Amino acid sequence: MTNPRILVLGTGGTIAGSAVSATSAAYQPGGLSLEAMLGNLAGLELAAELIPQEVAQIGSQDIGWPQWQALHAACAGALADPAITGVIITHGTDTAEETAFLLDLTLPAGKPIVLVGAMRPADAVGADGMRNFANAARVVSDPAAAGRGVMLVMGDGVLAARDARKAATSSIDAFKSFPRGAIARVTPARLDWFGPPHRVGEKARFAWPEALPRVAILAAGAGMDEQPVKALLGIGCKGIVLAGMGQGNAPACVIAALAEAAAGVPVVRSSRVDEGIVDRNVEVDDDGLGLIAARALGPAKARVLLMVLIANGITDTGQMQAAFDAG
Ligand code: ASP
Repeated sequence: MTNPRILVLGTGGTIAGSAVSATSAAYQPGGLSLEAMLGNLAGLELAAELIPQEVAQIGSQDIGWPQWQALHAACAGALADPAITGVIITHGTDTAEETAFLLDLTLPAGKPIVLVGAMRPADAVGADGMRNFANAARVVSDPAAAGRGVMLVMGDGVLAARDARKAATSSIDAFKSFPRGAIARVTPARLDWFGPPHRVGEKARFAWPEALPRVAILAAGAGMDEQPVKALLGIGCKGIVLAGMGQGNAPACVIAALAEAAAGVPVVRSSRVDEGIVDRNVEVDDDGLGLIAARALGPAKARVLLMVLIANGITDTGQMQAAFDAG
């Protein structure tokens, strides 16, 4: 039997990070080339053929449209190539959930696409990157990974793109999966799926757009006023995501300004709280004010979905709400 052929797309991040010393806190994300990083795999005897392609060497706080376009095109090419088993994307952890969700929304689920990162730079003591990479290779190589959409492999957990969320700044166990838990547990020696794929359908949910519109996240805080809403409209935002308090709440003057804004651009209420579902019409009259509830999506992923919806010309509030209900 021939080994699986895995396209490895490098973008940088801590997994390719290079530290001042093995024990220092300071490091440069993306300091190592993909080739140098994959050189660290020698000796792991991975039963897979890796085909490296460097897309970027950056911290994922700088990722955006040019890198997303390159990643989407490379993944689409790999999905169409019968010789490729699947894709691993090495990525910084800060925005891994956004890239993963964007690709999940816009690519078919046929072959596995796995994002992998690390919390410790490649040359730090106790570095987690190569273990995470070996785990990712095991996931992509498993025929049962097909049909599950884009996944994130971190700390021996396999998380679905729409559930994964970075919840700690530096802990090795930084990712949470909400509202569904991890879909599998993986180690370099073993992989256990916890059930059948829960992604619905194999086709891409949305077309890849020609550009993404400017959509901003407005963070709610006690005592704030409505001026930031006006400022966002003033700079031409095509949509606003509220990172609200609790159930997606904000002071009455802010909700009133958002309702006014919703006459012209879509406004989504999400929560700044780490976990929880923002439902419609709980403390805010979404029906009356024309607002959309983010449901299980946190602010970062709600923004990704809103950008994709607007770019696909979906502007009807009911249709948008249905997309958020589906996650
Ligand atoms: N700032 C880094 C990044 O997202 C953090 C990491 O990779 O863990 O690229």
